[in-house]
Amino acid sequence: MTAVAPANVRERIQQEFLRRTPGSKAQFERACKYLPGGNTRGVVYHAPYPLFADRGAGASFYDVDGNRYLDLLNNYTSLMHGHAHPRVTEAVMRQLPKGTAFAAALECQTELARILVDRVASVDTVRFMNSGTEATMFAIRVAKAFTNRNKIVKIEGGYHGTHDAADISMYPQLDKAGPEDEPRAFPTSAGVFRGVAQDVLVIPYNNPGVAEKIIRREGADIAAVIVEPAMGGMILGDAEYLRLLREITKSIGALLIFDEVITFRVARGGMQAVHGITPDLTTFGKIIGGGFAVGALGGRGDIMSIMDPRKPAVPQSGTFNGNPVTMEAGRAAMELLTDEAFVRVNRLGDRLREGFEQVFAETGVPGQVGGMGSLVGFIFSREPVTNFRSLKHGDADRQSLVHLA
Ligand code: PMP
Repeated sequence: MTAVAPANVRERIQQEFLRRTPGSKAQFERACKYLPGGNTRGVVYHAPYPLFADRGAGASFYDVDGNRYLDLLNNYTSLMHGHAHPRVTEAVMRQLPKGTAFAAALECQTELARILVDRVASVDTVRFMNSGTEATMFAIRVAKAFTNRNKIVKIEGGYHGTHDAADISMYPQLDKAGPEDEPRAFPTSAGVFRGVAQDVLVIPYNNPGVAEKIIRREGADIAAVIVEPAMGGMILGDAEYLRLLREITKSIGALLIFDEVITFRVARGGMQAVHGITPDLTTFGKIIGGGFAVGALGGRGDIMSIMDPRKPAVPQSGTFNGNPVTMEAGRAAMELLTDEAFVRVNRLGDRLREGFEQVFAETGVPGQVGGMGSLVGFIFSREPVTNFRSLKHGDADRQSLVHLA
């Protein structure tokens, strides 16, 4: 752990935050009456209270006190074109008077599916959901059904949403997590079915030796390995490591699931195209909904057909699946995402990364920048960051101050 920020710096940043955001404070106090902790999405809570949003426009975000921010978070990477892009807004406005939800099939579902199939080589067919959580939940269920096996493998610290299997070792407390070469699988949240941890094996990221040992030990029971090609979008998966996961899963008859909910923003064909690796199933979310709630599961046709309603081994429904507002917004957002747009936004990311690096170099504050293309993050540590455990070197206190500032 590096030295914490001096107390006077912390005090100054906090005071400034309080001075600028009385409207957010008032709204938070009111929200606490009706929402536990004033909150309905854990990740947006920050002490002493979160900002309350008023509106967004392009790269700008305005809070209820009228403060303007350069929005580098973009709803956690999901707004590829910033807030309220006119083309996306127009697509939604065209749909609204025609209705927002139908218990019927819609051509716009075929259109967005076609876009994903055209872009991602490993994807033959697609099913839509309303969140990335649902996408990974169904990816796992489909893999178990297809292979008729009961266990899955996930990465220690890997994030795949909030369902029970995804919750296992999501943010494990390291004092309970066992040795690095034999990580213990256990729930992060209270209330997860106890048995789930027995059927989810946990492997460290970017450690091929340990991954192979654990996977091979239980090979015959393993339905799938689920992995983010870049953890949290920030810790890049080593190409050799990801390739090894591809080879082992193939050799033991298990499926490889790439969770590209975040990484689909780096290239037309996702991170799998960058590495030239072909997973069996891919999960999507975030950018493909153009700013509306979305998730999708895509993959090999023979596997995906397990969800075919004419012979459904894995039935899948959802009142708002493939709703036309999401589909039209998603289509507009994807159409805007041309090869030129990728080049432009990835260059902007490189510039931001270089800027952070320069600041670390000039100030001497120990830190490093991660990510790839338009995925940019930093950590206050100079230790190599290759997996969940190495994040412990980061100075979380300083990180939270940067957020507040
Ligand atoms: N997978 C990954 C890699 C994610 O980053 C997220 C969300 N941050 C999810 C799944 C879950 O998506 P959602 O929040 O839409 O449920």
